[in-house]
Amino acid sequence: MFGTFGTVFAPILVSSMERDRKLPLIPLTFAPRATAALDPDDLFDDPTYSTDGPLSDQWGRRVKSLRISVTDRCNFRCVYCMPEEGLDWLPKDKILSYEELARLTRILVGMGVENVRLTGGEPLVRRDLPVLVRMLSGIPGLRSLSLTTNGYFLKELAGDLAAAGLTRINVSLDTLQRDKFHEITRRDCLERVLEGLAECERYPSLRPIKVNAVAVRGFTEEEIPAFAALARRKPYLVRFIEYMPIDGDAAWTRDRVLTGGEILGEMRKLYPLEAIPVDDPAQTSRDFRFADGAGTVGFINPVSEPFCEACDRIRLTADGQIRTCLFSVTETDVRGPMRAGADDAEVAEVLRRAVWRKELKHHINDPGFVRASRSMSQIGG
Ligand code: SAM
Ligand code: SF4
Repeated sequence: MFGTFGTVFAPILVSSMERDRKLPLIPLTFAPRATAALDPDDLFDDPTYSTDGPLSDQWGRRVKSLRISVTDRCNFRCVYCMPEEGLDWLPKDKILSYEELARLTRILVGMGVENVRLTGGEPLVRRDLPVLVRMLSGIPGLRSLSLTTNGYFLKELAGDLAAAGLTRINVSLDTLQRDKFHEITRRDCLERVLEGLAECERYPSLRPIKVNAVAVRGFTEEEIPAFAALARRKPYLVRFIEYMPIDGDAAWTRDRVLTGGEILGEMRKLYPLEAIPVDDPAQTSRDFRFADGAGTVGFINPVSEPFCEACDRIRLTADGQIRTCLFSVTETDVRGPMRAGADDAEVAEVLRRAVWRKELKHHINDPGFVRASRSMSQIGG
C-alpha cells in the first residue's frame, strides 16, 4: 500500500514577496557561553529587526503558537510517520527537562506566544506528563494548552490531564476498522483508543475533542462515511490532514495525497455541509458543519492549499532545537545556551533571532523540494 511511486511536481510557486526579499542565511552558532554567541554583527544589519516588541518574523507574521515535542519516542509505528523498527532515539541527557520546558515557555509567552500544544513522538509515553501540564497551565498569559496524542494512554490519563489544566485535546485516528487500524499503526489497539476518546468526554474542560485522520489515497476513501457518522454521533470535531512528505520511511509520493477537497466532495454527497467562517487567519483547518447542526468536520490541506501566509507557529524539539517551519532544513539550538548559563534575556534574544528567520513558506509543491532535516515524530507534529 505504501510502496514507491513516481513524484509529480506542481507548477513553480514562488511569490514575488519571496523573490524580492534577500533571506539572511547565516546560522547561529554557539560558543560555550551563550552571551558570546550573540554577536551583534551576526546578520542583523536589517533596520527592521527589533530587539523588543511582539515576536515576529521578517515577513511581518506574528508568532503566537508553540508546539513542544516532549519526546521523540512512540509506542505506535504509523506507516506515514515512522519506520517499523523505530528510529534512533535521542539520548536522555539531550532531552529538555520539565523545568527547562517551563522556562522556555514562560519566556516565549512573555514575548507574545498565546497557544501551546504538547506533542511528540507520543507525548503520553513521557513519564508524569500531567506534571508538565500543571507547570505550563499556571503560566500567566497562556490562553490555550493542548495535547496531540495517539490516544493509547488516555483511558488512564485523561482525568489527570484535565485536572492539571489541559484545555484541548487532539486524538489521531485514521480508521474505525480494527484490521485497518492495525495495518496503519502496526498496533492492534483500536478499542483502547476509542475508550480513551470516550474517557475525554467525561471532562467538559477538554473541549473541543478533535479527531485527526491522515488522508491517504487508497486507504481513507472508504472511511469517509464512518468518520462523518462519528462526527455526527459524538462531540468530536473530525478533521482530515493531507499526507505530507515528512514520513520516516521517505515513502511519500504525491499520488498518495488524498486532498481535503476530494474528501469534502465525497462527504457532500452524503450530507449537506455549510462552511464555518474562519475567525482566526492562522487557523489551519477549514471547518464545515452538517446543515442539520449534527456536528462538524474539518480539512487541513497543507499540500493542496498551503496556509504558510498566515502561519503563526514555531516548534521546539525534545532536544531543545527551535524549528520555524515543519519543513525547516536548519534549526536553532536553545538547549546549549540555556545549559551554558544564559539568562532569560539572552535566551529571549536567541529565540527572537530564530523567529526572525522563519521561512516564508514550505516548498512541497516546488521543483527541487528538499525534505526536512528530521521526520515528523522527531520534530513534533
Ligand atoms: N503521537 C501523537 C499522535 O500521533 O497524535 C503526536 C505526534 S504525531 C507526529 C502528530 C500528528 O502528525 C498526528 O496527527 C499524525 O497523524 C500526524 N502525521 C504524522 N506523519 C504525518 C505525515 N506524513 N503527514 C501528515 N500528518 C502526519
Ligand atoms: Fe507515533 Fe504519532 Fe508518529 Fe503514529 S503519528 S508513529 S502515534 S508519533
